[in-house]
This record gives sequence, structure tokens and C-alpha cells, in this order.
Amino acid sequence: MMKISGSIMDRLLNCPASKNVPDIKIQVGDDTPARLGSAVHEVASYMINQNCEVVPDLKIFMEKWGLDDEDDLRFLSWQAKKSFDSVKAYAKIVGSELPFELETTGFFTVSGTADLIGIEEPDTLIECDYKSGRVEKDATNQLKLYAHGHLETVPEFKKLNKVKLITFWLRSGEIEVAETTRDDLKKWFKESVKKITESDEYHAGEHCYYCPRNQNCPSMQMQVYNTVQSIEGVQNHEITDEMFVDLYPRVKMLQKVIDNFNDIFRARLHVSPLTDSDGTKYYLNEIKKDKLDIKKSFNIIKEFFIENNIPPSEIDKSLSISKTKLLKAVNDNSPKGLKGAQKELLMARLREEEGAVKETFEHRLTKTKGAKI
Ligand code: SF4
Repeated sequence: MMKISGSIMDRLLNCPASKNVPDIKIQVGDDTPARLGSAVHEVASYMINQNCEVVPDLKIFMEKWGLDDEDDLRFLSWQAKKSFDSVKAYAKIVGSELPFELETTGFFTVSGTADLIGIEEPDTLIECDYKSGRVEKDATNQLKLYAHGHLETVPEFKKLNKVKLITFWLRSGEIEVAETTRDDLKKWFKESVKKITESDEYHAGEHCYYCPRNQNCPSMQMQVYNTVQSIEGVQNHEITDEMFVDLYPRVKMLQKVIDNFNDIFRARLHVSPLTDSDGTKYYLNEIKKDKLDIKKSFNIIKEFFIENNIPPSEIDKSLSISKTKLLKAVNDNSPKGLKGAQKELLMARLREEEGAVKETFEHRLTKTKGAKI
């Protein structure tokens, strides 16, 4: 009997033929976002289980998952902890990282691990998932499977008939909630199993990101070829709004394939340099940058500016304070129960004196789903 993981449900529903891919179980990707996601889940789970009020020392997690942006891991882990607290405020928490394994009628077993499970009285299962990426991917099928798996296998959930599926997009702070019922999930699961087992249709799309076959799948290659042709067309012709929204997900997929390749190529170069038939050498070059120590460097910079008639106001333009690090320092040094209030107080004072001014520094491309479920 084939064993499949819940995290590939979306891919199987979109491309039933991908069930024939050897080694069907999902693997932890070698790319940085996948490693960051795993690290965030691990830190969040640790904080929840240990009742931590601050993010722990992340050195061990940074090393384990080969990460180099500690601030990012800290921010996302803290967001995950806040998500946990928001559910805890109205639901009884049953567990974090709660696994299940469910057999279909003879075809395959599905397994999965939800990030956070709770019960809202009188009869609602709360099924949550943290996402450390941006709001780009529909996670509903994965959550539906987890909820169905838990309802069917956990004795404590026998009395529950309603379901809330919650996706926490940690980076943006966006929360997506979809509601369904035990009966609807049963029906959905039955139809899904039928579709996956009876169809051998290939269909390339965003779900190809983590398919083990995405480097050599003919359907994917055709999709990539067509996308490249369309992008070339965009450069030469007028493009309609319909063409933009049709092309965008396909370009994202192409970008992901390229990013995956670059990650794998860099991992290979970490082992040793490579040389092509023309003698061109490829290797990783260590780049060092100067890091300024503000306390030690400030007077030297000031004197230099005066000596050279550079207006002192130019110094201000080159200084910056990290809001994330600043608020972390307040958080770590404030008494329990007052941490949020202290941070708000500091930000309010800064805003009052125009020490903190809201500026638009980026217009981020954001995609939100249409129908919820
Ligand atoms: S790469 Fe995409 S189209 Fe090809 S088998 Fe995998 S999911 Fe299907």
C-alpha cells in the first residue's frame, strides 16, 4: 500500500499522475525557504512546549538548518508563538505537531502533522498551519486533509462536527480562516481519493514546486517552454490584464525551478570548484564586508566630516536603527505580562516625537485567494 504525506495532497489533486513519481513522500527541500520553514516550526514547537515568553537562543537551530538570517528566524518564530496565543485565547489547545495516519480503502495511507490543534466549545475542531512564505500558495487542501485525518483517528474528536481551518501567514501577519463540517470533509476526502486513484492526468502548475520529478517531467518542461515563449511575446506585444494574471503563476513556477537549480548548484560548489570544457571555472568566492561598530566609529566619522566640510546632516542619513532588534531588547527586558504594553509605549512615544514615521518602502506583490473552500 502506497504511503503519502498530507503535504502533497494539493499536488496529487492537481496532478493525479504525480502519484506514480518514485519516492512519493515529501522531502525537506534543500532550498533556504524550506529549511527556514522547518526551523520556524521547530522553534515554535519548542516555545509552546516549554511555555517560553521570549524566543530562545537560536544558535543551535541556525546551525542545524544551515541558516544565516537569525533576525528572520526570530521574527517568524515569534509570529508563530503569537498565533498560538491567539488560538489559546478562545480554544482549548490539544497539541502542537500532532501526527495522524489514515488508511483509505486499500489504495494508500495518508499521514500528516498539523502545527496546532484546538477545540472550541461546544463542537468545533480548530486545525492550524503556520506558513513562513508569503501569501502565494493555497494551503486549504492540506488543512482539509489534516482535519479529516484527525477527526477520523483521534477518539477525543468523536463529538466534534464543525471545523475551522486556519492558516497563519507569519510573514505578513495575515490570517486565513475557512469553515467546514465533518460531513463535508468526508465527502471531499472520498471524491479526492477517487480522483487520485482513477486519473492518470498530468497537469503542471504551482504544485510542481516540490515534486521530485520537476527537473525532468515532460508536462513541466512543456509548461516551462510555453511560459518562456509567452514571456518573449510580452516583450514584443501589448499584453492584456487576463494575460498578466494567467502568466504570473507560470512565471513564478519557472522562477522556482531556476531558484531550485541555483540552490543545488551552490551546494555542489561548496564541495569543490567545477570547470567546463572551455576551461571556465565556477567556484564560491568568499565576500567580506566591513561592519561598522556605531559606538567606536561615530566620533571618527564626525571628525572626518568636519575636517572635510561634509555637512553633519549627512551622518543622520547613513545611520539606521533596527526596529526588530530594538523591540526585542524591550521585550527581553520587560516583566512578564507587560512586554506588549512596554513595546507599544515605546512606539507611541517615538511616533509622538516623529522618531518613528510610517513610510511606504515597498509595494509588495500580494495574492489572495478567491473562494475560501
Ligand atoms: S512535475 Fe508537475 S506535472 Fe510533472 S508529475 Fe510533478 S506535479 Fe505532475
